[in-house]
Amino acid sequence: MRIIIIGAVAGGTSAAAKARRNSEDAEIVIYEKDSFISYSGCGMPYYIGAHVDRFEDLVPRDADFFKKKYDVDVFTGHEVLDVDPIHKRVQVKNLTSGKLFTDKYDKLIIATGAYAVKPPIKGVDQDHVFTLRSITDMNQILTFLETRKPKTAVIIGTGFIGLELSENFTDRGIQVTMVERLPQVTPGLDGDMADYVQEYLEGHGVQVKINDGVETIGKEDVVLSSEEKVPAELVIVAAGIRPNVSLAKSAGAMLGVTGAIQVNHRMETSLPDIYACGDCIEHFHLVTGKPVWRPLGSTANKTGRIAGDCATGGDIEFRGILGTGIFKIFDLAVAQTGLSEREAKELGYDVSVSHNIKISRAEYLGGKELIIKGIADRNSGRLLGVQIVGEDGVDKRVDVFATAITFGAKAEDLFHLDLAYAPPFSTTKDPVMYTGMIME
Ligand code: FAD
Repeated sequence: MRIIIIGAVAGGTSAAAKARRNSEDAEIVIYEKDSFISYSGCGMPYYIGAHVDRFEDLVPRDADFFKKKYDVDVFTGHEVLDVDPIHKRVQVKNLTSGKLFTDKYDKLIIATGAYAVKPPIKGVDQDHVFTLRSITDMNQILTFLETRKPKTAVIIGTGFIGLELSENFTDRGIQVTMVERLPQVTPGLDGDMADYVQEYLEGHGVQVKINDGVETIGKEDVVLSSEEKVPAELVIVAAGIRPNVSLAKSAGAMLGVTGAIQVNHRMETSLPDIYACGDCIEHFHLVTGKPVWRPLGSTANKTGRIAGDCATGGDIEFRGILGTGIFKIFDLAVAQTGLSEREAKELGYDVSVSHNIKISRAEYLGGKELIIKGIADRNSGRLLGVQIVGEDGVDKRVDVFATAITFGAKAEDLFHLDLAYAPPFSTTKDPVMYTGMIME
């Protein structure tokens, strides 16, 4: 059996590794149009901020590694231009030589990921305007930082990538202004929680302009919709990403309502023997069962593993997502899982909401305040979602909440969880338990 995989970052390489574990005999080939593979995209903002020592820590594997460890042939600099699902062929272009060739598959796994959107802003194509999606993008930003030494930057968009960059640029001595069209930062959070994030950013010297947009990008500044001029020797567009679906679409694969590739629980597309995984696919929400698109590395690795398993006769099935995510800005961690209050209301839930501020662990051992927002369904009592901000212990709490929501816990169940306590780690009644107590 010959398995061809398109794309070699999180989804594609996870699929290849699992396929090899299931099958010693399969021929496994990956085509990747970029030069870097299997890297930690999530670490790129920290490399830019000089918090990661070595490039190899971010990009630890190359084609040789995959050949030696998994007997997988990875062809970088090779773009798949076309998929022919009838004859089970792909057309590939060697980007170095320009040569075109075809390859035949028995199973095809599409792991083409996503791309960063560049809105049609006047001046967006200048050489001091960047997006950050790949190692190639990161290297371009670093070269610019090192050669032009900008003192000011504007980041368009306040999602987690823009926010992580704001910290890392600030660490490099750059004055950052973030511009957001919406009336709040961090669009995925509810506004009341986003307010803490904005206040924190401003407290760390980042300027934030909400309810505003960038109209024009000049050589050393940008002009906002409010007509304000903001200095910007460097501009980052972090205004969202879209799934890379053109190849799948032109092959005839169905797309879902979110615009990403539709797959079933086994990562099978609507075309025979063609699977898809990672950021290019549509997911479904574990609470609502409805289609959503939450492109995250955690999910891309998981769906890659499922695609590799199912393509080689396995039976792991995808169980949906909560969109659990966490990021850090300076010392503040921001996390969420499940539905926001806004989403829950849009979906018609009669929502009950709690806010509690509790200490992460004994104060005499460095405990810090955690602000936790819980969202539950008033009728069934089921916990629907949680958002947390704080400087300590956010990561462990969000994962407990995610686990509770996954298994259908009611808010009141949280009090009854038998959670670990010792002063360096928690409080006698953990903040998770308090959320249950006040939502009973
Ligand atoms: P991609 O990483 O997009 O890889 C797809 C690959 O397919 C690309 O290399 C592309 O060149 C290749 N390709 C596309 N079309 C073709 C073609 N026709 N022929 C050949 N090759 C093709 N997620 C988290 O969970 N936590 C985080 O903290 C986090 N931080 C992030 C920080 C940054 C700055 C960024 C950019 C992302 C972050 N993510 C994070 C998201 C995470 O990196 C992605 O979810 C993950 O990389 C998706 O992997 P993928 O393999 O599906 O897609």
